Amino acid sequence: MNGSQYLKVAIKHRPQGLIVRFCQPQGVHGRYNYCMKIVESPRPNTAETLLTMLHEFAHAELHSDRNLFSGVPYHVTEQECEEWALNHFREEGLNEDAERLLGASRDYIFEKIGEDFALFKGIGRRALGYLTCNQQTQIKAQYERYLEEKIPSPFERKYIDREYQGWHSPLQEFNR
Ligand SMILES: [Zn+2]
Repeated sequence: MNGSQYLKVAIKHRPQGLIVRFCQPQGVHGRYNYCMKIVESPRPNTAETLLTMLHEFAHAELHSDRNLFSGVPYHVTEQECEEWALNHFREEGLNEDAERLLGASRDYIFEKIGEDFALFKGIGRRALGYLTCNQQTQIKAQYERYLEEKIPSPFERKYIDREYQGWHSPLQEFNR
């Protein structure tokens, strides 16, 4: 796959009405402005930069009704974007790229889950399922330690656990 082919994939999957700007200077991160419907992302001439751009497109496709105050944990939103983007890689026959990028993608979601439960935002089941078995075990152990530290009462802990741990992802419904 050469650079212009990655660019073609990005053009093909650009959501309608979305304005795309290439970041200057070329970095690895992108962003999506929900109000202005503008994606800023590096020029997609590699698998990595295509993933970044598709990830931002996913925000526009899936999360137009979400903002910082929607109450959806950030890692849930981010995992949905990663999954959407990598599914498009596979749909385009870019299976090797998708497999190669999956590791770093999982590491990223692993990190975001940790940040969110530290803010009592719980863990999305689908996001948890995106990780390797080893990462899932680590997250569960970290989460339990965290709860024990913050909430000494076992009764309250149980309640919090029920309330927060099974954060329900709308994409889960969508894909059923
Ligand atoms: Zn994102």
